[in-house]
Amino acid sequence: MLCPKCHSVMQEHKVLTQSGEVAIDKCERCAGLWFDLGEADKLKYEWTSVTLDDGDENIGKIYNEITNIHCPRCMKPMESVNDTKQAHIRYEVCEEHGVFMDAGEFSDFREITLKEAFDHILDVYRNSNKSGSSDAGDLPIDDGSKTG
Ligand SMILES: [Zn+2]
Ligand SMILES: [Zn+2]
Repeated sequence: MLCPKCHSVMQEHKVLTQSGEVAIDKCERCAGLWFDLGEADKLKYEWTSVTLDDGDENIGKIYNEITNIHCPRCMKPMESVNDTKQAHIRYEVCEEHGVFMDAGEFSDFREITLKEAFDHILDVYRNSNKSGSSDAGDLPIDDGSKTG
């Protein structure tokens, strides 16, 4: 498969997820990532996918300006959309085949999920601390009966 942005060869990378192996195509030159439909969402909950998007995000920003690209599967024009949760992330979508993200965008895309995960962990932690209250009655015992 050729990269829809710079037309270099895309290499397949296998990522192990809880629901099995997912194959992601990554461009050798611009490090853009191609996700077949549903894969980006599946992967954003996988902590192991953090190494996948290791391209230079400055190069990603340059390629982000290229929006009139064609789907590498069906060659139809792809639609440039902004993420519903993080409006600053713009990626290209073919509604039948998948999503193309420039270098750095997938890391950005995942960030909110990691943050949500941490918030959730903190909530659980706080709640478990609240219920287990105990009196700090560990003062040393002194009957005070001794006289000097
Ligand atoms: Zn490329
Ligand atoms: Zn397509």
